[in-house]
Amino acid sequence: MLTNAIGCECSDPTCPGGHLDQGCTMRATHVIRRIDMDDGETRFAMCYTCANDALDSGIFALVGGITKPA
Ligand SMILES: [Zn+2]
Ligand SMILES: [Zn+2]
Repeated sequence: MLTNAIGCECSDPTCPGGHLDQGCTMRATHVIRRIDMDDGETRFAMCYTCANDALDSGIFALVGGITKPA
């Protein structure tokens, strides 16, 4: 499971996170997956801002949160 700190994997240049095409440097707190692909295995770790924007797009579904290390 994703239990260690992991960086946000968002690279959407139009993301409200404001990272443009540089990639987001926030710590990921959510795991989402694409729902327009059949494999069901394509998952992304994203921070709160990016995950919410992705979910709003309608092609991602929330898998769960990332447990932060103690
Ligand atoms: Zn992000
Ligand atoms: Zn983003």
